Amino acid sequence: MNTRVGVGYDLHRLETGRALRLGGIEVPYERGLAGHSDGDVVLHAIADALLGAAGLEDIGTRYPPGDARYAGIASSELLGGVVADLTKRGWRVVNVDVTIVAEAPKMAPYRSAMREAIGALLGVEGDAIGLKAKTNEGLGAIGRGEAIAVLAVALIDRGET
Ligand code: MG
Repeated sequence: MNTRVGVGYDLHRLETGRALRLGGIEVPYERGLAGHSDGDVVLHAIADALLGAAGLEDIGTRYPPGDARYAGIASSELLGGVVADLTKRGWRVVNVDVTIVAEAPKMAPYRSAMREAIGALLGVEGDAIGLKAKTNEGLGAIGRGEAIAVLAVALIDRGET
């Protein structure tokens, strides 16, 4: 077995007038995440963790923010493209572990729906998705509720080549 690990990090600003897309679902909140895509910072961090594990270029290089083809695109499509590429190279996802850093909203009510949505995108059971949320203790931009950041780790494997 050939096993690789990767880490991904992302941060997006919160702004009014946008839906909050997070972990592949819509979370009811007064603001949403800015971004060229739908702003789903959880899926972006996972995509970067997977790309890093496979030794591929990061999501920003793959889907440049200035490229009109990706304006308003669902992040599930971006992550789906990453998973398809890894599958083509013989990789399968073993598990991912995610930490969301956000002052608000509370994530607990949405945790299981996010795990299911992420698992479906990655082709794994929901129990292969670790999902934790914490605040930034009121400190900095995240603590002031101006942004949400996410850290993700992914493990992938494939047979001996
Ligand atoms: Mg991003």
